[in-house]
Amino acid sequence: MSKNIRISPKHGVNPTMGICMWCGKPTGTIAFCGRLPKDAEAPKYSVVDYEPCDECKEKWAKGVVLIEGTPNEYNPPRPRFTKDEYGEDIYPTGRWLVITVEAFSALISEKAKGRLPAPKEGTVVCVDTQVYEHIYKMFNTVNETEEISTENSITDKET
Ligand SMILES: [Zn+2]
Repeated sequence: MSKNIRISPKHGVNPTMGICMWCGKPTGTIAFCGRLPKDAEAPKYSVVDYEPCDECKEKWAKGVVLIEGTPNEYNPPRPRFTKDEYGEDIYPTGRWLVITVEAFSALISEKAKGRLPAPKEGTVVCVDTQVYEHIYKMFNTVNETEEISTENSITDKET
């Protein structure tokens, strides 16, 4: 979100309460959305960034975090999470899981290991749905969350 907010004629600074993208719990942050497209009122709760909350951070620190990413845009829009190898924007679906560093290392070919930094606890890797589902079925996971409903959408006044 940009630093300069335009005040909404109807809703003023148009506040929304931040929720964690990864578990849906309130983060305690309040974001000012200002003037949204069509001067809409900000939802009560929104994902304002992709920073994990303290609880999620704790879970993520237990291993390598695999985040399911998709090139499909969301409506209302979410900011991109990363770009794929072709420069396409990738958006998180909200599903993620944590596997041990050893388990993650076993998935990577020796050749690829030479190109990649060594994975460690807290490493975040974005994977497509096919890879995500494959790994999900392979491992007993530390944690898995359901896809967050699009009601918990990101408010991005620039789009
Ligand atoms: Zn969280």
